[in-house]
Amino acid sequence: MVQSAAAVENLVVIGSGPAGYTAALYAARANLNPLLITGFQDGGIPGGQLMTTTHVENFPGFPDGILGPELMDRMKSQAVRWGTRLVEADVDSLDLSSRPFQLQADGRTITAQSVILATGASANRLQVDGEDTFWSHGISACAICDGATPQFRNEQLAVVGGGDSACEEAVYLTKYGSKVHLIVRKDRLRASRAMADRVQANPQIEVHWNRQVKRFGGSDWLASIELVDGDGRPAETLPVRGLFYAIGHTPNTGLVKGQLPLDEKGYLITEPGQPATAIEGVFSAGDVADQQWRQAITAAASGCQAALAAERWLTHHDLAITITRDNVEPEAAELPQPTTTVTEQDFDSDALWQGGSYALRRLYHESTKPLLVIYTSPSCGPCHVFKPQLKRVLTELDGAAQMVEINLEEDADIAAQAGVTGTPTLQLFKGKALKQQWRGVQQRSAVKAAVEAQI
Ligand code: NDP
Repeated sequence: MVQSAAAVENLVVIGSGPAGYTAALYAARANLNPLLITGFQDGGIPGGQLMTTTHVENFPGFPDGILGPELMDRMKSQAVRWGTRLVEADVDSLDLSSRPFQLQADGRTITAQSVILATGASANRLQVDGEDTFWSHGISACAICDGATPQFRNEQLAVVGGGDSACEEAVYLTKYGSKVHLIVRKDRLRASRAMADRVQANPQIEVHWNRQVKRFGGSDWLASIELVDGDGRPAETLPVRGLFYAIGHTPNTGLVKGQLPLDEKGYLITEPGQPATAIEGVFSAGDVADQQWRQAITAAASGCQAALAAERWLTHHDLAITITRDNVEPEAAELPQPTTTVTEQDFDSDALWQGGSYALRRLYHESTKPLLVIYTSPSCGPCHVFKPQLKRVLTELDGAAQMVEINLEEDADIAAQAGVTGTPTLQLFKGKALKQQWRGVQQRSAVKAAVEAQI
């Protein structure tokens, strides 16, 4: 592919959920050479809300369902295959007051003729102690996505919230749970009358008025929730295995506050069904301008619309500098490969990255290099984000450090011995001594510096 040395980008897409990757895919195939800024921490992890869900059963084309993080890996690979360039960082600022538009990200200034805002919305959380421990282990922000998880079958479940989402989800969950508790903080529902009636007419739903969740119980999976009354006094403990938040969403519109019109909840205002915003050349896609539908498929569809609209706008104003391709058909997409669990037969004492308890035992006792150990699980979205970053660190260190990956589902005993309760957890050893431990996705530079200090 011949890359144009465009000082000014044709199109920058901000956000890496289904809307962002679909917009980038369409723009890349239109030879617009788009730049996509994935985000890193602001507004959730790269890949968006699907990175923290398990099975997605309602995205067409996957008849047996697909894990949310895997679906996002695929969307990313497809966008990259057609030439999307990625910047894996948050956008620190965006200035739409003059043209070309200006963004600060990853320590540099990026200028762009057009921008697609696909920054999404973050599901609100209760911020109760223990929430992180049980997130994706009983607590979810999406009943529609996660309700059918086997752990929820014929168990008591609960939904927090009193709006239409909470009511809809409570009714939906009665298909799976033995009983559904609806936890409402006031003495009335905010939901529409019709929705409220459906809840109250359903014998499988019990509404708990004037109640707030105070505490979670359980070991590796949620087992109970403790409720308090309106005055904060203990009220009851419910033996629920699944708790679903439906307490509203907050759109990630901080970057454009004061620059574009937002509604009272902070969502971008556009003409219904149209991606154009109040500033020409700036388009929106996905949940950032949609508080009604909020599905992966609707976000992807609006990403497509935004890219086509941006292409038309750039062409109309004669602003696009398109690339030409040497190969009409790009190379096949690269998808992340699962880590092989090694045994005595295929263990390699020099491998940069291998999996399983055998490799861990051998390297722990024998390696003189810094040893990183990452605990992962197949459905862990943040692991999908973190592992490629760590692979880059190991490649940059050129064999001076090694990694062993432990899959929590295969080697639960090892994880228990190591005191690991969640994924991703990263440990750094040197000479059998634990030097540092991190929980959750970290900045690549921080991990690299810690490893370098042990070399
Ligand atoms: P809403 O903002 O309408 O409702 C949020 C609910 O969560 C409210 O009942 C609120 O309580 C409660 N809540 C907020 N924070 C807390 C907290 N910290 N602790 C306990 N409860 C809390 O969000 P929805 O997602 O329900 O709906 C968003 C929009 O989408 C609405 O316009 C809705 O009509 C629409 N929608 C329509 C559907 C349909 O028609 N089928 C389905 C789903 C959504 P309180 O009432 O006390 O403020």
